[in-house]
Amino acid sequence: MYHFNSLLKHHNMNYKIIKLKPKKEESLRRFHPWIFSGAVQQKDNDLTEGEVVSVYTASNEFIAVGHYQIGSIEVRVLSFEEEEINPDFWKKRLNSALELRKSIGLLSADNNSYRLVHGEGDGLPGLIIDIYAETAVIQSHSVGMHESRMMICDALKAVMGTTLKNIYYKSETTLPYKANLGAENEYLFGGKDVAEIASENGLKFYPDWVKGQKTGFFVDQRDNRALLERYAKDRSVLNMFCYTGGFSFYAMRGNAKVVHSVDSSSKAVMLTNKNVEINFPDDKRHEAFAEDAFKYLGNINKGDYDLIILDPPAFAKHRGAIKNALQGYKRLNAVAFDKIAPGGIVFTFSCSQVITKEAFRLAVFSAAAMSGRKVRILHQLSQPADHPINIYHPEGEYLKGLVLYVE
Ligand code: SAH
Repeated sequence: MYHFNSLLKHHNMNYKIIKLKPKKEESLRRFHPWIFSGAVQQKDNDLTEGEVVSVYTASNEFIAVGHYQIGSIEVRVLSFEEEEINPDFWKKRLNSALELRKSIGLLSADNNSYRLVHGEGDGLPGLIIDIYAETAVIQSHSVGMHESRMMICDALKAVMGTTLKNIYYKSETTLPYKANLGAENEYLFGGKDVAEIASENGLKFYPDWVKGQKTGFFVDQRDNRALLERYAKDRSVLNMFCYTGGFSFYAMRGNAKVVHSVDSSSKAVMLTNKNVEINFPDDKRHEAFAEDAFKYLGNINKGDYDLIILDPPAFAKHRGAIKNALQGYKRLNAVAFDKIAPGGIVFTFSCSQVITKEAFRLAVFSAAAMSGRKVRILHQLSQPADHPINIYHPEGEYLKGLVLYVE
């Protein structure tokens, strides 16, 4: 077995080693948390995917410790200090994530759903943890996080205390399939499958982490929904791509005249109806339809709605798809501009990480120009504070939105 520990000046930990090519440590000195395979000079030849490695510069200086993975990102950095990745490490990181959420006022009876860990934004690349009332949903995007799941689970219990009754692990679709981990979606703790009711800004919803998309509810639109509520009064609202109906029940509390929710998935329409119902029982202002967005928008009359929300799924999941995605955003927004009543407001979003806010704005600009309407930007929206962006990892910015006034 080839091992070059002995070459290194200060190797205090037992982890295997990756050594970088000359000058390839520069981005790490600026705390960027990814090491690409092209930067690697030499590595221990018995590395297992997901294990913790120590990373050294070409001049044998310690630079980082992180999770090793086969692929273009070879190491996801957990720490720039020479520290053991042990139960204390996980407790410390989760505790600091929780402290941040507490300090921005996210933990209250009115609001018990939030993102506790947002990957690189919380110094834990590859890990997402969402909290819904008494349940935590863990999602791993890297093999290292998958391998660490029991340690993460224990740390989570220690940090959250008795308020936490269930921990659901949901990574079947987010782990690299090539790693062939056979990861199942399962409870690591608790296991109460009855639907629990969570709250967001005083509104209620049923998070469905078992059957729902992603971790069960999109907490990232919390602030944008609150803004929408302010503009909903007396308006006819179309919530396109409604999923669990978040924007719809905020619009209702904001005294909208009518609210129509549309999603191509009938399961989403069912969830929306259920969530509207627990907040506004028997309220005839709301109706939901299972239909394709373009088909629905194509069939409505000009002026039917004066507030339209467009929150589609990520049109581009990787760089190769950017061009088509921008066309998609342009086409979608153009129909909305064409159909909205004069004096109407459009809330339009993109959650594609690879689409920059400039590119998105340009697509919306082209759509506006196609419609020939006078369009003004009222707000430029982003992701909320429980989805923090690590300043050294700008790639973490993914949600962008525009609120537009259309004459
Ligand atoms: N606005 C939602 C999140 C939207 S997620 C919220 O606040 O929670 C995107 C949704 O778009 C999914 O529910 C998906 O089922 C739906 N969708 C995908 N393609 C669609 C299409 N062509 N027409 C209508 N809905 C679609």
